[in-house]
Amino acid sequence: MGLATGVVAGVLVLLGAAPPVASPGPTVVTVRGRILTLDSALRSLDLELKLDPGSASKQVVLLGEDRSITPLFRDEITRALFEDGRLRNLRAELHGRHYPGVPYLKVTSLRVEHDGQLQIPEYFCEVCSISVRAPQICPCCQGPMILQMRPDRR
Ligand SMILES: [Zn+2]
Repeated sequence: MGLATGVVAGVLVLLGAAPPVASPGPTVVTVRGRILTLDSALRSLDLELKLDPGSASKQVVLLGEDRSITPLFRDEITRALFEDGRLRNLRAELHGRHYPGVPYLKVTSLRVEHDGQLQIPEYFCEVCSISVRAPQICPCCQGPMILQMRPDRR
């Protein structure tokens, strides 16, 4: 076997060894826009849909700068956006994962605009000096926790 033939054979072996095309995994995305309930977002787009009362007020979405609506999965990361109206109608930047064929965004981190800066919302207990992501009573002293914005120092 000549050198050239050997090289060709080697290339063919490499091609044959290539892994099969896997089903596409999630796409890591960064999206910007405003955090709204679905009914507010539809109103912003002048879409007058006759939906069942209350059905669109419980779903939180990101209304993108391109006027696209991205619904958010509700979980530990986004729970505050669903439960605390003070965090809505603000400009926000979300990092997350889009799964193929799934319109909902799995948010992995979020920042909302406060005092002209993107900041991380958290709930703080002044007695225990601890903070959590979602509104709740303090897990330590059972006292109230207050919403505060933490500057992002990444
Ligand atoms: Zn506490």
